[in-house]
Amino acid sequence: MPQRVFFVTSEVYPFSKSGGLGDVMGALPEAMEKSGRPSAVISPYYGRISTGNVRVRRTVSDLHVGYPWAPITADVYETEYHGVPLYFIDRGEYFDRRYYYNDPYKGDYFDNAERFIFFCRAAIALMEHLGTSPSIVHAHDWQAALLPAYIHFMRPREPFWTNTGTVFTIHNVAFQGRFSSRLFESCGLPSEAWDINGVEFFGDFNLLKGGIVYADAVTTVSPSYAREILTEKYGYGLDGTLRQRELHLYGVLNGADYTVWNPEDDPYLPCRYSVKDLSGKQKCKEHLISELGLDPALKDRPLLGFIGRMRGQKGIDLLNAIIPDLVRMDVGIVALGEGKPEHEAKITELMEQYRGRVAAVIGYTEDLAHRMQAGSDIFLMPSRYEPCGLTQMYALRYGTLPIATAAGGLRDTIDPWPGENSTGFIFTKSEAGELLKSVREAVNFWTDNPAGRLKMIRRAMRREFTWDRACREYMDIYRNIRLRL
Ligand code: ADP
Repeated sequence: MPQRVFFVTSEVYPFSKSGGLGDVMGALPEAMEKSGRPSAVISPYYGRISTGNVRVRRTVSDLHVGYPWAPITADVYETEYHGVPLYFIDRGEYFDRRYYYNDPYKGDYFDNAERFIFFCRAAIALMEHLGTSPSIVHAHDWQAALLPAYIHFMRPREPFWTNTGTVFTIHNVAFQGRFSSRLFESCGLPSEAWDINGVEFFGDFNLLKGGIVYADAVTTVSPSYAREILTEKYGYGLDGTLRQRELHLYGVLNGADYTVWNPEDDPYLPCRYSVKDLSGKQKCKEHLISELGLDPALKDRPLLGFIGRMRGQKGIDLLNAIIPDLVRMDVGIVALGEGKPEHEAKITELMEQYRGRVAAVIGYTEDLAHRMQAGSDIFLMPSRYEPCGLTQMYALRYGTLPIATAAGGLRDTIDPWPGENSTGFIFTKSEAGELLKSVREAVNFWTDNPAGRLKMIRRAMRREFTWDRACREYMDIYRNIRLRL
């Protein structure tokens, strides 16, 4: 077996996904493999995993993990997806659940620390079992954040790990995996890791911090967000720790997977279209209007779309606050998402109040997300912060002009109107009034300037955010680490 880059992640599309992390892990390892870097992925075997028609086989039984008690084991399921080996860690009591991390009505699972510490330790056990030292272990988010810490402490003692570098990628610094100090004792890290310069965080055990402190390099998913998280406003308490790692902190903009998100051959759309022939887009819009039971007259008015977690981060409350004004502007609004019950209830109430003008689908539906990207004219992303954001990249490719806050990856991917290269609309302050102003501007542009609109749509559709570029940047980071080992 060649030396591989092992991506360790709690989600991998199309097998599991709750947001952008799943999409990224569904695309980056494949792109890496194609660029000539042998890769592999390790992820949990969730009960709700969708294997579709991909054959998954159990290849390891009773792998000794030893956490949280000595005789505990995991089984490993294996498949190859687009040329990349994928290993799924199976232990029913931890991963065979309806949701990944939390029950929407009851909150986070009580044993999340135990579940994902187990996952990290099983990943270590599996790599050792496979027998060839990884060249790089690339861990993602708090669920995999202890891997760089384990490897840091094993490297001087265990020859298997001596030549393995570690990269830790933060997809959202607000999600830290912060748990009681009690859980540190059995996690297998030496006592010296319990330190303000280790995993200790205001008396708690902070898994994300472990990744930041002990990885050879830390990355996040856009250059702007890499700068933002060094500040108190966006660092969620970890800005100081991140500033200490500034020399080894990189912002690598995510790519979009155009084999999954492309209106020219998207199997979920009622008809396809391209930058050369946009007629199908209008048909997708009419189909969406009818699918969601909206007023057919909206076919000649701008249709505004929102897709995402209905939480404060995504600014769903700002959108809810201006919906009555939007309805008065004679536009349609379609929203898809799930999140905080109060935001879900509010938009559902607005839908009832403005039946035919507002459609809200509460839930998680992959195929509808595609049809909404294609059928909307304008894509709303009023995020208070946005590490990268993939949905605006997809919107651009589908010719759906984004309106977004000047935050993180949104700033790095949208060229603001007015301007020769503009592909969307940007506003600076996360306030309902600012969002409304920006929508007004976009709607006026959309209705009063059809020629300008068409040009902007074409420019947007031609924008490319490829994984090849991101891959090259990661490979430079890997190379630098290996030179330092
Ligand atoms: P985040 O990772 O912060 O949730 P991103 O914009 O990076 O946001 O990625 C979100 C991904 O999840 C996109 O692929 C988007 O289409 C998908 N998504 C989010 N909410 C839903 C939903 N309710 N139904 C279907 N897909 C969704």
